[in-house]
Amino acid sequence: MTLAVAEPTLDGAVGCGEPVILRERGQREVFCGLTSIIWLHRKIQDAFFLVVGSRTCAHLLQSAAGVMIFAEPRFATAIMEERDLAGLADANEGLERIVDALLARRPDIKLLFLVGSCPSEVIKMDLGQAAQRLSRRFLPDVRVLHYSGSGIETTFTQGEDACLAALVPEMATSPDAERALLVVGALAEVVEDQFRRIFATMGVGPVHFLPPRHAAELPALGAGTRYILAQPFLADTARALSDRGARRIAAPFPLGAEGTTLWLRAVAQEWNVTPHVFHEATAFGEQRARRAVSHRRERLSGLRVGFFPDSQLEIPLARFLSRELGMVPTEIGTPYLHREHMAPELALLPPGVLISEGQHVDKQLDRFRAERPDLTVCGLGLANPLEAEGLATKWSIELVFSPIQGYEQAGDLAELFVRPLARRARLEV
Ligand code: SF4
Repeated sequence: MTLAVAEPTLDGAVGCGEPVILRERGQREVFCGLTSIIWLHRKIQDAFFLVVGSRTCAHLLQSAAGVMIFAEPRFATAIMEERDLAGLADANEGLERIVDALLARRPDIKLLFLVGSCPSEVIKMDLGQAAQRLSRRFLPDVRVLHYSGSGIETTFTQGEDACLAALVPEMATSPDAERALLVVGALAEVVEDQFRRIFATMGVGPVHFLPPRHAAELPALGAGTRYILAQPFLADTARALSDRGARRIAAPFPLGAEGTTLWLRAVAQEWNVTPHVFHEATAFGEQRARRAVSHRRERLSGLRVGFFPDSQLEIPLARFLSRELGMVPTEIGTPYLHREHMAPELALLPPGVLISEGQHVDKQLDRFRAERPDLTVCGLGLANPLEAEGLATKWSIELVFSPIQGYEQAGDLAELFVRPLARRARLEV
């Protein structure tokens, strides 16, 4: 078997202050979209995620879920056996049986996602039709939707994008004149509550969040809806929302004191909030955040940090680390570069910084071995080998699982980058 690899291309205006963009295609080291179920199932509290997949998918979910134990878990895998995969059994019948049993036992489930996987896609199982059939049977009690979490050519945060995009057609249409703010992207509840309070102080509202905490709270959508992305990996969801007439508010992402202020300011400007009111609503939080971050600056300033492409949070994180903590990005890998969504972030990066889009993992490893950054942010699969080679690493997936957005979390976010260095320093003693 051979691997077809396109040669990398260099893009971007070298030397004129813009980032240098290196496009690579080749073998990639990423988790699949099923991983996102781990944070999504905590977020939508009456939803259930039923992966239609193999034992491998079940193992991935179980190990990603780690030590979390629930009396009644909100995700599971309908395991396709060899007879299903060989087309000898009707996989749809098996799936209906499992859904019947699940919903009979769990009346708390109001939203059921059938999540496609590599195996279900390989045998071309039509989960869209299955979801429609099941919805017809179980509505109005349970809505059944589907999306793909398959690992073919995707990264793990795309699972959230696919899930949220599947919710958009379910949102009712609001009258054009009805103005509302929609914050898009799964956030920890504590972060959501903080943002709600700040928006209320600014007089911005009504404010809705996607995904909602409960299926019945899915907000309506229309030409009066202004939406702002809270996560940088939601390209399909954004397209679906714009197609429904909603307008995106462009902003950097709410990471760190500066990022949070710029993100909130973009909303404030859309709502014509006066500078005085904006200051009243944000100054205290911003000051606290700056103080919390400054405690870590001494430890991190001047250190070099490199990112392998994984979570799609790499560019906003590099911006935060360079501008608020004085770190020097050596290479910012990102699985995809959405130039429109990233434009406000790219403008804040150090001039001439290298951004690599896509991945050819061997070539990238060679670059990191030559560069030897003080800290490497990467996926789990690369972390151990790189540690063995003497590089300090930070698991990028931890940054998706942790509440890191907003003022109150800025210090904790900085601390996440201090920890691996502190651990390495202890080991060296
Ligand atoms: S969806 Fe694909 S990549 Fe993900 S665990 Fe299942 S088989 Fe593996």
